[in-house]
Amino acid sequence: MAGSPRVGVLALQGDVREHAALLARLGADVALVRRPAELATVDGLVIPGGESSVIDKLSRIFGMQEPIRAAIRSGMPVLGTCAGLIMLADSVVDAIDGQESFGGLDVVVRRNAFGRQVESFEAEVDVPLLGTAPVKAAFIRGPVVESVGGAARTLAALPDGRVVAVEQGNLLGLSFHPEITGETRFHQRFLDHVRAVSADAA
Ligand code: GLN
Repeated sequence: MAGSPRVGVLALQGDVREHAALLARLGADVALVRRPAELATVDGLVIPGGESSVIDKLSRIFGMQEPIRAAIRSGMPVLGTCAGLIMLADSVVDAIDGQESFGGLDVVVRRNAFGRQVESFEAEVDVPLLGTAPVKAAFIRGPVVESVGGAARTLAALPDGRVVAVEQGNLLGLSFHPEITGETRFHQRFLDHVRAVSADAA
């Protein structure tokens, strides 16, 4: 385990390959996770960007909702980007009818808060926790964190105050896509969480 944590990317829908490639570049042993048995082999999980209502539906069809909820409850490190953040949020505004999340992050997010696909943009975002160099972030129909509950903390907000990155214990949620702009520090932090949890368990 020491140098090479085994982590999964939830591979039901979304930009799975970009996350898997980045994690592999950072030295992780990466598995694509679609089934409970695959989830059981990893020490951390990335939930990619994509379409949260589809990830929700497929996760229920594949019998993944409860196992992922249980993994989150048990402290497994999870990084969710964009749709992945929506899946981690305890509460989702502007969800489609019947849409559910895994939950775990004590936040309210609003889907599609930045408008339509054509209104996608890149921005440099200050994330003090990651050092002085700003994060280059791609926003693609991302959610905004509308409120941050007592258990979670804000890692980054846009200059207008809209919260776009949160953390709660081993859960990290981002409104944007660091995996497509060459930003590695959030994935690095996720892998640090994985190593810390695995070391504790050893
Ligand atoms: N709009 C998408 C959703 O609701 C998220 C977009 C993304 O992940 N890039 O899930």
